Amino acid sequence: MNYQTVIGLEVHVQLLTKSKMFCNCSAKYQSKPTNSIVCPICLGLPGSLPNINQMAINLGIKTSLALNCSVSSYTKFDRKNYSYPDLMKGYQISQFDMPLASNGKVTILINNEEYSIRINRLHLEEDVAKLIHRNDKNNSYSLLDINRSGVPLMEIVTEPDIRSPEEAREYLIKLRSIIKYLGVGTGNMEEGSFRCDANISLKKISDKNLGTKVEIKNLNSLRSVYKSLKYEIERQSDCLNSGKEIIQETRGWLEDKNITISQRTKEYASDYRYFPEPDLPLIKIDKNIIGSIKKSIPELPEEKSKRFQQIYGISKYNSDLLVINKHNADFFENTIASKPNSSNKFAKTVSNWMLGELNKLIKKHEIIIENQKITPLNFKKLLDLIDTGSINNASAKIIFEEMFLNGDNPEKIANNKNLIQTFNADDIEPIIKEILQENPKAISDFLTGNENVVKFLLGQVMKNTKGKANPKVIEELLINQLRELNNK
Ligand code: ADP
Ligand code: ZN
Ligand code: MG
Repeated sequence: MNYQTVIGLEVHVQLLTKSKMFCNCSAKYQSKPTNSIVCPICLGLPGSLPNINQMAINLGIKTSLALNCSVSSYTKFDRKNYSYPDLMKGYQISQFDMPLASNGKVTILINNEEYSIRINRLHLEEDVAKLIHRNDKNNSYSLLDINRSGVPLMEIVTEPDIRSPEEAREYLIKLRSIIKYLGVGTGNMEEGSFRCDANISLKKISDKNLGTKVEIKNLNSLRSVYKSLKYEIERQSDCLNSGKEIIQETRGWLEDKNITISQRTKEYASDYRYFPEPDLPLIKIDKNIIGSIKKSIPELPEEKSKRFQQIYGISKYNSDLLVINKHNADFFENTIASKPNSSNKFAKTVSNWMLGELNKLIKKHEIIIENQKITPLNFKKLLDLIDTGSINNASAKIIFEEMFLNGDNPEKIANNKNLIQTFNADDIEPIIKEILQENPKAISDFLTGNENVVKFLLGQVMKNTKGKANPKVIEELLINQLRELNNK
């Protein structure tokens, strides 16, 4: 039986504020000694009183606007009650019925077609402490690092609009890109500053109502989101095919086994006994604040891609790839700016090198674009060297890798590695003459219309010049000489 996959994602983003959500402790808890940034508020000591971090609200509004949400005029915080060792107070301060924003949308591109994923809500809450599980031989125990307790979190919840694991991945890539452009979060999934819970159900194509959903937790990479969703589609369709019902539950993804396992049956809102946080006031969001935050929003990937297509003449597909990461987009534009009055052909060459060779090196060396060492000016110089025939394409790739790793300029690397093509036309012509004299058969083949021999002769000349001559130049001279013979 064929089923329609239905997915909704809940993403938690740690906000890049200076201090925590409700106290003055630093929010930069990573790499700090364990349990060193704590105070009575984020420890949840009785009698302590929370304070709202205005910066967190502002970053939440900024994101809401970028996701086309409507920002609420009034918003409030609520207590979500549950008990777990990493939750210091026995409740989390979150938002229940009056979230900061709602009704947004994010567009994604699937097979060159645009789809809209609706955003149900965006709300703020606080992160929990971190449990570190140890297993020493016969003794297993857990340690608690409270530094993370109270770090501002923004939760972004989609409507069940996503139809496949591929779409889920595209949505996350797009959302993460926007988060990074805005500078509201690092978007780093492995570090846990961008975390995703995935909800998935299947339904018969003809069914009007959605099926029972399962929530998958602990997804800390795009790969695990994708793979766990694929796994659930299999598991749930097997289950439905054999006439069983899907149980609404929370499942965990086991990365090493590539399976999801049941963790607990799903809690419902009433299990959390939400009620308004009595220690915090109702918040009125001023229209003027929204206006001034709106002005601070930079050019986002979608607009940037449109602009790249318009002014540099690159395809939508390539342009969308270039702008996913702001560093990438800036590198592209700065390289073009380093060659004043350059043509669209130059832009296209830069784009091809970035999406081809540069991406290859990023994967090969596992270096993120932010840390690679090629400067825009050196990049431009390399492309100039190819253009003037001083180096060939194969050498250029070798030089590019060296630039990528060590940041040297291309002339220096080319000289050190002896890759400059030093032969000019005057040097090449006598060599061609010699080679032609040595290969009368090739000439007669050419004269009877076999053009393949040009490649053979080209190879001979290259060998003779030890690769120090530009193949384009050789080919041109070679064809000229052959034509002359033809005319004789
Ligand atoms: P809950 O109350 O269980 O947390 P919500 O209505 O808040 O459920 O939805 C949580 C997430 O699950 C949202 O992203 C939503 O789009 C998604 N979702 C809701 N129902 C389904 C369903 N039947 N199948 C897949 N995803 C769903
Ligand atoms: Zn604190
Ligand atoms: Mg929910």
